[in-house]
Amino acid sequence: MTTSEINLSKELENGKEFSCKACGACCRGLLEGEVYLYKDDIVRLVKHLKLKGELGLKEFARKYVNIIGQTFYWKEPGAKRGRNYKFKTLAFKFTGDDEHCFFLDDNNLCTVHKARPFQCRCFPWWRMMVNSSSGWKNLIDYSKKCPGLRDSLSNKGKFYSRDEILKWAKREYEIEKKYFLEMKKNNFDIYRVYEFLPKNE
Ligand code: SF4
Ligand code: SF4
Repeated sequence: MTTSEINLSKELENGKEFSCKACGACCRGLLEGEVYLYKDDIVRLVKHLKLKGELGLKEFARKYVNIIGQTFYWKEPGAKRGRNYKFKTLAFKFTGDDEHCFFLDDNNLCTVHKARPFQCRCFPWWRMMVNSSSGWKNLIDYSKKCPGLRDSLSNKGKFYSRDEILKWAKREYEIEKKYFLEMKKNNFDIYRVYEFLPKNE
């Protein structure tokens, strides 16, 4: 996504229903996406798993974390134009032929539900799903694999107001922005931002 401005798609202007059906499809990589992880997510998960201190962070990173690419649009204050920056970020490793999240159990339940990453909590109100017409198109695409979203398109599920949807999407933007600025300050060196990351693996 490119700007802090969110032009809510017209289909969401009056709010929308959504309830997760706990089918686990989005925890399997079958939506061909990633589960991004930010510092607060990792600290919360490490604590939840009762891993301790710096060693706990290292253990978590070794077992569950991948380094992947991310893009963020940024315009310096006062600048006429901004640009897209490409840099590294963290995401869950997946496992098995179906590429499932390590924390998905055999009954499709999330074993770290209370401590799950922001991206899992925020779904489906990601900016890429709610912003203008392309967001609605993305939402339709995701509905092909997500039964909760299919119901949503028939107005079934828990109701979210326009403001609630915007609040989730804006929170997502703020998390991404905070990480981008920290990376920028550290010359986009992910090993300086996350000192616990294993190198050369
Ligand atoms: S694919 Fe949709 S219904 Fe299934 S677990 Fe994910 S959010 Fe819930
Ligand atoms: S943390 Fe939980 S909700 Fe998120 S991908 Fe893993 S199993 Fe699914």
